[in-house]
Amino acid sequence: MKNIKLSWYPYTLELKHTFNIAMNSRRSTPAVMVEVDYDGLVGYGEASLPPYLPEDQKSVNDFLGKINLSGYDDITNLNYILQDIDKILPGNTAAKASIDIALHDLAGKIKGLPVYKLYNVDKKKVYTSFTIGIDTSEVILQKLKEADNFKFLKVKLGSNSDREIISTIRTVTDKPIFADANQGWSDREGALDLIQWLNERNVVLIEQPFLKTNLVDTAWLTERSPIPIIADEAVQRLSDIQLLQDIYSGINIKLMKSTGILEAYKMIRRARELGLKVMLGCMTETSCAISAAAQLSSLADWVDMDGNILIKNDLFKGVNGADGTIFPNDLPGLGIIKT
Ligand code: MG
Repeated sequence: MKNIKLSWYPYTLELKHTFNIAMNSRRSTPAVMVEVDYDGLVGYGEASLPPYLPEDQKSVNDFLGKINLSGYDDITNLNYILQDIDKILPGNTAAKASIDIALHDLAGKIKGLPVYKLYNVDKKKVYTSFTIGIDTSEVILQKLKEADNFKFLKVKLGSNSDREIISTIRTVTDKPIFADANQGWSDREGALDLIQWLNERNVVLIEQPFLKTNLVDTAWLTERSPIPIIADEAVQRLSDIQLLQDIYSGINIKLMKSTGILEAYKMIRRARELGLKVMLGCMTETSCAISAAAQLSSLADWVDMDGNILIKNDLFKGVNGADGTIFPNDLPGLGIIKT
């Protein structure tokens, strides 16, 4: 295929100023936007690069520069092509995700099918959580007003004020909460006490309570916890799942970790075989990557995909509604429209 063209450009995702400022004083997230042009069709992809992860715009630029799509007879043969791309270099999961997403969008457009149909996945309306960062009570209460339409809240814990944050939220709403400790707890007895307290306050899962390397305490906690303990930092790709089988109740799959849609789908299948729950998450992303993950959202137990709602310069109209619903549409590919 000589008439195929891969291009990309750096982009900065500007966070809406009310979000997460107190937590990390970060106002933007670097990204790289990808386009694959073929036969008058364009497949869109994206790499989101939060600074706590190893990739940056330069590494994505270098990685994408090593890809040559012109040698393939069938650009919709994603299994084959993405396997080749994975072998170019280890790591680089967000760079790999960006091309995976673009090729899925293109393959869907070539075949005239939405991506979820390429995977024979059912279409179902699901509800994303809305993220509340670690913050002062005043700011938390203000954010809760913005979360009014959403059915689930995602709350960052792991500071000294975990009980205070939850108590503040419970003065105004009893919506179910996904709690993310972000590796912030260290004392297992204390963590279990806290989880029991959280369980009485409609917290429905805990993400990554301890350091990702602390398998012993995590297994101890999972065995005793009344609510599911979900791996986030501890899981990236398919090959990580087996080890976590008896350590966690479930895994949080994100396209930027998994290398994209294809491996995320395989991870969901594998997690189910192992009896693990599945959460589908995201980074700060445009509606491109969010709509990509949305193709698999009906397979997840919980969906935490509000990354595009947290930015003010989205480049796409995608599959989610302002009321927190995620529902793939029937446009070919990812169902996104460049704005
Ligand atoms: Mg997390």
